[in-house]
Amino acid sequence: MGKSTSWEPIRQSYLPYGKQWIDEEDIEAVVEVLKGDYLTTGPDISKFEQAVAQYVGAKYAVAFSNGTAALHGACFAAGIGQGDEVITTPMTFAASANCVLYQGGIPVFADIDEKTYNIDPNKIEEKITNKTKAIIPVDFTGQPVELDRILEIARKHSLVVIEDAAHALGATYKGRKIGSISDMTMFSFHPVKHITSGEGGVITTNNEEYYEKLLQFRSHGITRDKEKLKEYHGPWYYEMQFLGYNYRMTDIQAALGTSQLKKIDQFIALRRKFVAMYNEVFKDVNEIITPFQHKDGDSSWHLYMIRLKLDKLTASRREIFEALQQQNIGVNVHYIPIHLQPYYQQLGYKKGMCPNAEKLYEEVITLPLFPAMSEEDVNDVIHAVKRTIAYYKK
Ligand SMILES: *Cc1c(COP(=O)(O)O)cnc(C)c1O
Repeated sequence: MGKSTSWEPIRQSYLPYGKQWIDEEDIEAVVEVLKGDYLTTGPDISKFEQAVAQYVGAKYAVAFSNGTAALHGACFAAGIGQGDEVITTPMTFAASANCVLYQGGIPVFADIDEKTYNIDPNKIEEKITNKTKAIIPVDFTGQPVELDRILEIARKHSLVVIEDAAHALGATYKGRKIGSISDMTMFSFHPVKHITSGEGGVITTNNEEYYEKLLQFRSHGITRDKEKLKEYHGPWYYEMQFLGYNYRMTDIQAALGTSQLKKIDQFIALRRKFVAMYNEVFKDVNEIITPFQHKDGDSSWHLYMIRLKLDKLTASRREIFEALQQQNIGVNVHYIPIHLQPYYQQLGYKKGMCPNAEKLYEEVITLPLFPAMSEEDVNDVIHAVKRTIAYYKK
């Protein structure tokens, strides 16, 4: 029992928690670019941007080298600077808060709602000061945040809402696609996300001013737009008007992204089917809590997490996690709350600041979920979870 228990694999190969799905069409799209004239700064970038904007129902999309760079761009466009406070959730990947630090701003963590695991709008209000400039809510696991409440708070206090929707491509809130609602919305195309471009990210927005700033920021702060130039020396002339970065996406990535986006609805349908299989079985397992879904949102299910009722179990989360790993089930934990990371601790953030997130972190396990898995894979996970929980239940 306990630490000495070793588990037989439930399957031959290790099942990862997430993985891309690349088909022949994707490969052809990339090869086309490799045979063409532009590997970067070519026409595939705007094709991809237009496809993403159209899919989410936004006016503009600006592609970046990755989602983190896109968030940095959004913080710049929102005017975040030295000492400005930006409210976000601790239950997310480090990038959601790091982008604020890049601009010299101060991330302020508001605790999560116990049921949805998303940032609690009431806690956002408590954190607002005269230095607050923006809110970065995260659609955690793919479940939309309470956007109406968050936008209402933002309007009341003149704050910009930068939605981190790295998990939520294809999700809807009150029938509207995520990406069309907040001031700016970020999507990531890392291979574990809904669609991939290898590395890649995008900001969608309906605001022309943000759009122009994002374009310039991603390419050194340089413009060739005659209407924006302060001088004009001739046809070669360009101006660097502020300090930007080289955050450009390549055409190779963009072509892959465009090809992948054609399959997004199919990808999400498969995710939903596998989630339904998990829910159907796990709802009857008394020792675990399945993901609660708010009525206003329709999740696109980036992650499926189970929450352990540790008082009904004889093992710790770690023992159960390791038991599943030994059975060849690729489990994971999302996330270590950002304010507990050593770097953030050095900055002065303290354990105890966000008790709901800290408690959740101790109790969750992410199970494999990706469109390329089979029903047999899903059943392997179900079988492994059921037998592990049955073994450790009180
Ligand atoms: C993946 C992810 C990011 C960062 O995206 P990259 O493309 O990997 O830079 C940011 N926020 C969340 C919540 C993510 O899951």
